[in-house]
Amino acid sequence: MNMSVAVTEKPIISIASGKGGTGKTTFAVNLASTLSENVQYVDLDVEAPNGHLFLKPYVDKETEAKVPIPVINDKKCTLCGKCQEACQFNALLILENSSMHFPELCHGCGACLLACPVGAIDEDYRPIGKIQEGNSGKIKFLSGILNEGEAKSPPLIAQVKNKISSDLTTILDCSPGSSCPAIEAIEGSNYVVMVTEPTPFGLHDLRLAVEMVRVLKIPFGVVINKAGLGDGKVYQYCKEENIPILLEIPFQKNIAAECSRGNLIVEKIPGMKKRFLECYNKIMRQFRWGR
Ligand code: SF4
Ligand code: SF4
Repeated sequence: MNMSVAVTEKPIISIASGKGGTGKTTFAVNLASTLSENVQYVDLDVEAPNGHLFLKPYVDKETEAKVPIPVINDKKCTLCGKCQEACQFNALLILENSSMHFPELCHGCGACLLACPVGAIDEDYRPIGKIQEGNSGKIKFLSGILNEGEAKSPPLIAQVKNKISSDLTTILDCSPGSSCPAIEAIEGSNYVVMVTEPTPFGLHDLRLAVEMVRVLKIPFGVVINKAGLGDGKVYQYCKEENIPILLEIPFQKNIAAECSRGNLIVEKIPGMKKRFLECYNKIMRQFRWGR
């Protein structure tokens, strides 16, 4: 059987979900494995990256991700308060006799440096996580890993995205949910695949994720994981909203067993690779370059 991919453009495909645990990473790693070459898998679920458990990459480069932070030089500071006024994130507090900086609120925007009239603010850097680069066979592997206790993941997600190669098909395994990390991850992609389960919780979170993607104006479709579990309301919702269902992954013991062992279902379950390839071709037909 000819398993070649139908079109040759290099899209960026975000794999998203309204909540964690829906099978987003299962879909992302198996899609990357189906394409097998000229593809990069990028783990942007930086608070809990686990694509490596399935792809078992050889990591040959690890770099520290940092964000800039201001450091006030007390000897130069006149306590005028202009930096506090300039900060939109309440990350600086200028008191009568001292100043305070709250790194957990700081976005590293640099507005305070520009606002200081006497040059009393220097720039330093604070580590927020790691970026791993490597490969799994012919699949390029990229992953962000947020430091424990670090509150803000969007800067790390942005830094991982800066390392994406434009000449490869890109599979972004995005942060779950519909808040800032998910938006940071999805923005700029050509297509979004939303992975959900046919349950009331799955439907609730899918609705939120659909609202987010519609605001971003990116074409999207749905993959239903654990098909056969729950009820038909997710299907009804997709029909009413005219959302294409790209693939159903059945609720089966052998699939769950392979996933729990860290195996790729496209390698272990007969017929699954063909279904993932058909799903990819549906994506390619729908996203703008493919039409
Ligand atoms: S870098 Fe930006 S966010 Fe951080 S303290 Fe300065 S103005 Fe506030
Ligand atoms: S703007 Fe400069 S001088 Fe004024 S309080 Fe801030 S650091 Fe000090």
